[in-house]
Amino acid sequence: MTFTASRAAGLDRLADFVPRSGAYAGLRNYDLPDHPHVSRLSPWLRHRLVTEEEVLTTVLDRYARSTVDKFVQEVVWRTYWKGWLEQRPSVWTKYNAGLRGAWDRVQTSSGLRDEWEAACRGDTGIACFDHWARELADTGYLHNHARMWFASIWIFTLRLPWELGADFFLRHLLDGDPASNTLGWRWVGGLQTRGKTYLARASNIARYTEGRFNPAGQLAQDAAPLDGPENPPRQPIAPSGVVRPGLRTGVLLTYEDCTPTHVAEAVTDPAAFARIEPDSTTAVLHISPAVQAFRTGALDDAVSRWPGGPAFSPLVTAAELVAWATESGLRQVVTATVPVGPMADLLAEARPMLDRHDIALVELRRDYDSLAWPWATAGFFKFRERIPQLLDTLDMRQMSLSL
Ligand SMILES: Cc1cc2nc3c(=O)[nH]c(=O)nc-3n(C[C@H](O)[C@H](O)[C@H](O)COP(=O)(O)OP(=O)(O)OC[C@H]3O[C@@H](n4cnc5c(N)ncnc54)[C@H](O)[C@@H]3O)c2cc1C
Repeated sequence: MTFTASRAAGLDRLADFVPRSGAYAGLRNYDLPDHPHVSRLSPWLRHRLVTEEEVLTTVLDRYARSTVDKFVQEVVWRTYWKGWLEQRPSVWTKYNAGLRGAWDRVQTSSGLRDEWEAACRGDTGIACFDHWARELADTGYLHNHARMWFASIWIFTLRLPWELGADFFLRHLLDGDPASNTLGWRWVGGLQTRGKTYLARASNIARYTEGRFNPAGQLAQDAAPLDGPENPPRQPIAPSGVVRPGLRTGVLLTYEDCTPTHVAEAVTDPAAFARIEPDSTTAVLHISPAVQAFRTGALDDAVSRWPGGPAFSPLVTAAELVAWATESGLRQVVTATVPVGPMADLLAEARPMLDRHDIALVELRRDYDSLAWPWATAGFFKFRERIPQLLDTLDMRQMSLSL
């Protein structure tokens, strides 16, 4: 199972999956070797080498909505989680604080440290769990059902802090995403949909792995929700930035959006170009080399597709970003919107320093995100009611593009 960090490889994967998208609803829950029944598009979607909008329009060009409804809904889950976290960024901050606390406990309690290490190494004696821990470390990917079972066993059977599990995923998943991952773990633990947890059952694992695993007698039998505060109130999503004409402008690429055509279209004659390199030290422990390599490859690919082939200065820290902008004499730095997560934390650090130099940081949001993110006001089922409106808008855009 290979994941090549290029848009071309993502589009190939999409083309390969489209003929199977109609069978997805009936087969998607099976976690089988090589994962034939799911798309495995998430590393490309995560870094926007391919966008949700493209995936939706491609499958809907081929099939009626009713045929691919389940697949459409799953793609839209990604959009929903993004919009949900954008409106409640403190959930990300609290997760990080919880992670630091859990990490302190790992360092001071040898019992916890041994259990956490065994879980990450795939050495717990629960064969399915151990297999998924190794599969994740070896391939950078896990099937959705395996993620749910794994998180449930981590929290309710092994009774390890959920933040350490979310961190293990985030460091190893090629699609590791602050929204889908943090909120997926919170959902399993009963923090996201208050009081509703996900309990992994041996019979369900046996059925959907076609008997490869059957941890009968090894798993927790109940899943009492984790303690945690109520979800914070929503805060409005800031409007998309606006490029001011006539100012000396720099373009900034991040691994959050590796097909920023909306940025290329909005800037005229930029004076400087830079890219923020993936930083392996943004987690308590280092991000895996495979994730680092995928992100670097995704940025290389984005650079190679930029019109005119300019050179992009490599940057790592907020201070380097500010130094690049000032030394290039910029008045504005334009980038694709960076959603909540480590990269947004880096930009938040840079913004006041840029302000002091009178340099604007302009984040341009895609129309798709501007439309859909604010709908993530409550649970997914409310959001789902908006899917027809979202798809109608995509249809209109397709029509206007082909005119
Ligand atoms: C505990 C936990 C942690 C997770 N962490 C991540 C993560 O870090 N990054 C990530 O991209 N997804 C995460 N997911 C969601 C989901 O498991 C993956 O997106 C999916 O398994 C990716 O495989 P695929 O591309 O083959 O999915 P497919 O089943 O083919 O689905 C197509 C696309 O729909 C989206 N999608 C499908 N299911 C979900 C879902 N439940 N939530 C959000 N989007 C979804 C993805 O973009 C996916 O690529 C997590 C789920 C759980 C339960």
